[in-house]
Amino acid sequence: MSSVARARAPDTPKGGVQPECPQEPARFFARHFAQWSGLSLADVSRAVLACRHYWATLEHFLDFRNDPGMPAASLSKLDRRLARERDKAIRRLEPIIEAGLVARQGKRMMIHGSRATPAHRVPADWLAWETIELCMATLGVEAHGLSVCQLCTVVFRVRRGSSAHHCEVCAKRAKTSLPARGARPRRTSQLVARTARSHA
Ligand SMILES: [Zn+2]
Repeated sequence: MSSVARARAPDTPKGGVQPECPQEPARFFARHFAQWSGLSLADVSRAVLACRHYWATLEHFLDFRNDPGMPAASLSKLDRRLARERDKAIRRLEPIIEAGLVARQGKRMMIHGSRATPAHRVPADWLAWETIELCMATLGVEAHGLSVCQLCTVVFRVRRGSSAHHCEVCAKRAKTSLPARGARPRRTSQLVARTARSHA
């Protein structure tokens, strides 16, 4: 297929601007993508590779963006490459995200405990979702249709016009009383909040 051939063609900018290209899927991401989607490690490896290529290019882009000696033409070439790699990573990650959401619809992933629990003590499904969420955040994509409630961790169907962040029950509860800081289960947000306070 010509599209496959194009995807495999080497496509590195000339003139020393050559992003590092990871050739192996990272085991950590492959494990969690497989856990989330129910697919085999081999089946998720192309998605992991696409994400790694995107991250490597993103890192170069961020370095070069702050370099005053970087020619504008090279930067815009890198920008276009980044956009292509982002599209490819999203295309490969989407079926993995969807398979996991569909399989868990109506289920809560964290039955007890706080999301501030160390990684090795949380359910494998939850850790897999957090890894997926991290990838979605760096790619700038949000779940639609099905989503995971940030408070009770249930996988729910997002109703038109309502939040993708909270299930109906938690959204109602949040309207009457804001959750206590300790009850907020997003580990990442807690880290951000703590950092923000320490810099205040
Ligand atoms: Zn909820």
